[in-house]
Amino acid sequence: YTGKSSTQLLSESVNKIKVNEYKSIPVVVNENVSIYDAIVTMFLEDVGTLFVVDDKSLLVGVLSRKDCLRASIGKQELNSVPVHIIMTRMPNITTCKSDDLLIDVAEKLIEKQIDSIPIVKEKEEGLEVIGRVTKSNITKAFVTLFKKD
Ligand code: ADP
Repeated sequence: YTGKSSTQLLSESVNKIKVNEYKSIPVVVNENVSIYDAIVTMFLEDVGTLFVVDDKSLLVGVLSRKDCLRASIGKQELNSVPVHIIMTRMPNITTCKSDDLLIDVAEKLIEKQIDSIPIVKEKEEGLEVIGRVTKSNITKAFVTLFKKD
């Protein structure tokens, strides 16, 4: 018997979960695709956030559903305006690394009031996107940890 309460044990296990264990595959688009094509990609890939990369596949921005809605109700030409015009851009992108704790990434989602964070790997010239963590991943982790079978 360890003498630890179940709450202590639970919190210890939460603090061991790395983001890597609950990640999803990232969906990326090139910065030069049109807003229209980005919206189509969101539907086809069934994601709410696209990560935007340059020709070297390095992270340059993030495009959310509401970014696209805002552009759609504005005067922008969806077929000709590239996503880099409306995306949130580097260096203002919140990112995380594979071995970050899931609980810390969850805290970032709340703090920044965003739905999704790219998991990145540092390269010499910039950041390569290797995964994504969304509120859905956190919900899955929550159920796995707390559901009694
Ligand atoms: P939505 O805009 O559809 O509600 P979010 O809440 O995720 O989706 O996005 C809110 C705003 O924050 C958007 O303008 C989006 O571009 C930006 N954003 C989303 N994810 C990130 C991120 N990881 N880092 C920086 N900005 C982000």
